[in-house]
Amino acid sequence: MKSSEAQPRIQQLRRQLQEAGYAYYVLDAPIMADEVYDRLYRELQELETQYPELITIDSPTQRVGEKPASQFSSVKHHIPLYSLENAFNLEELAKWQERWQRNAPNTNIFAYVCELKIDGSALALTYKNGILVRGATRGDGVTGEEITQNVKTIRSIPLKLKLENCPPSIEVRGEAFLSLEVFGEINQEREQTGEQLFANPRNAAAGTLRQLDSKIVAKRRLDFFAYTLQIPEQEDTDIAQTQWESLELLQQMGFKVNPNRQLCPSLDDVQKYYESWDLKRRKLPYMTDGVVVKINDLLLQKELGFTQKFPRWAIALKYPAEEVPTLVESITVSVGRTGALTPVAELKPVQLGGTTVARATLHNSDRILSLDIHIGDTVIIRKAGEIIPEVVRVLPELRPPNAQLFQMPSCCPECQQPVVREKGEAVTRCINTSCPAILRGALIHFCSRDALDINGVGEKLVQQLVDSKLVNSVADIYDLTVESLMNLERMGKKLADKLLTAIAVSKTQPWSRVLYGLGIRHVGSVNAVLLTERFADVAQLAAASAATIEGVYGIGPEIAQAVYQWFQVPANLSLIERLKIAGLQLKSAEVRQQKADENLPLVGKVFVITGTLPTLKRDEAKDLIQKAGGKVTNSVSAKTDYLVVGEDAGSKLEKAQSLGIAQLSEAELLGMINQ
Ligand code: NAD
Repeated sequence: MKSSEAQPRIQQLRRQLQEAGYAYYVLDAPIMADEVYDRLYRELQELETQYPELITIDSPTQRVGEKPASQFSSVKHHIPLYSLENAFNLEELAKWQERWQRNAPNTNIFAYVCELKIDGSALALTYKNGILVRGATRGDGVTGEEITQNVKTIRSIPLKLKLENCPPSIEVRGEAFLSLEVFGEINQEREQTGEQLFANPRNAAAGTLRQLDSKIVAKRRLDFFAYTLQIPEQEDTDIAQTQWESLELLQQMGFKVNPNRQLCPSLDDVQKYYESWDLKRRKLPYMTDGVVVKINDLLLQKELGFTQKFPRWAIALKYPAEEVPTLVESITVSVGRTGALTPVAELKPVQLGGTTVARATLHNSDRILSLDIHIGDTVIIRKAGEIIPEVVRVLPELRPPNAQLFQMPSCCPECQQPVVREKGEAVTRCINTSCPAILRGALIHFCSRDALDINGVGEKLVQQLVDSKLVNSVADIYDLTVESLMNLERMGKKLADKLLTAIAVSKTQPWSRVLYGLGIRHVGSVNAVLLTERFADVAQLAAASAATIEGVYGIGPEIAQAVYQWFQVPANLSLIERLKIAGLQLKSAEVRQQKADENLPLVGKVFVITGTLPTLKRDEAKDLIQKAGGKVTNSVSAKTDYLVVGEDAGSKLEKAQSLGIAQLSEAELLGMINQ
């Protein structure tokens, strides 16, 4: 980006961040999620690093928080109350370590203290001779608001320190916060009285601390965790030499100190702590949004000091964002196997929930209209169901001038045929059955793992097969030969052989998978199983009415209609015919068994065995007859077809003779079986 291009973006970002900062810090009513604010802030910071000549003193990156509101008297912080630098992942944390180590090159032994980052509002409490004399907000880091009266209402803040021999003057810093339970109650009350709800516990805590009426503050049950002990330079600092000791001392003084802290000798331990708290923190009764990593040794902290805004010896390692902003570089349209046109936002790649996201679905025209999305917009994206990234909303304030509103095309981007959008439907479709995009989608689906599971047929190969016109229908896969495949680029004999084996193996996949692979609308793999359990043969399903199909347990009217209609299309019936010829399983295994049984030589015949056979034992003969489809009974009756006669036959022979039943020798029986 050129400086001239960066400038308008920088200005827009500043305006947006200033507005958000005011809403957040002064009105306690944020207009965007913290994660979105953090990313826009980071973008501004990066642009300003790249173009330092464009930095202005009023840039949100040059200040901490907001100027204090006027209704309280202001107090100067003797030691500035800084914010914390943010790291959004472990790599950034490692870079921070490299940076501070460069500033303290002789440090070999060190440890970190990991603390949970409580999502509340920072307070600075001054104690003179052990008595609380002043409480102040952070304000802009240099000047805060004097809110001593309000602070005194917080039960977990001692008015008098418990520790004997306290230094005459100390400052305790920590986080005032609201438990999730109290936060819920406050918002419930506000809802009843028609007041605007607080967006989150942090804003509720900050808003409460700045209440003019201390009685209201007292009712709100704020809580406080202490995390920093400041002792003025001239006083004895031997009292604690590490952050860990400070925390223990604060506890002895009567403060509440968060118990979930840990001493970590290395970044690996920090990582373990950070990861272990990602889940556990959701069960805590208060909000946390990261981990604060602090160098334990206070002398080293002093040596490192501060930048203009942050201590160099601490960093806030934030948990992955669920929503982030990014730029829409263009909007493309993809055509799926059902012909549906899906607009896709091509994004400036961004980290979201642990992966890099460069595309997000915009679903359909209605969604685009309601989002009012323009090319070049800054949008907020989120992962729907934790997997598929989607655009949640647009930040119109960051829209570049002359940005074009996106319009759905009137022709299919793949086959250039006009597209249709049916009344009442949100989806625009290409209805050209020979559209290559639809064919590609159908092929990918047909070969996918839950369908015919043909290994090696991925998007690239499908594109080649369709482009080269080797495959014009799903059934064409079964006509592929080594020779035809070898015409494709980067296709060798070995690969072609492998592919043909996988295609041959797919012929043994069960009927339910074939049905699923056909890609009939609404027929997922579960519905395919339900349908094939009821319709054991494709012919039965093809002949069934929509009402009969709907009669299948678990199949609704929409699915039944889609299946019925699919089998009314002649092209689909010829596809089935071709798949049948190719040898695919279009019947369930039981039906095949039944059919196979019908062809056995002794089907429908009833046998009785008597006497000793020359080579076969009685059981062996019985088994052979049964395997050949015949039935063996113990006694002769009118239903008996054959009596198999061996040596020393008894009364069974007489009875058979009297009933005129045919007799067989062992050799004759074997002859019949082998027919
Ligand atoms: P911060 O909240 O990112 O981190 C610094 C603060 O963490 C400290 O001031 C302290 O209050 C707190 N903290 C909690 N536990 C701590 C611990 N154990 N040790 C030390 N500190 C601890 O920074 P910030 O300057 O207070 O606020 C900036 C943040 O506010 C941004 O990152 C953003 O998320 C949010 N913000 C949001 C909007 C919005 O529109 N949503 C606007 C402005 C700022």
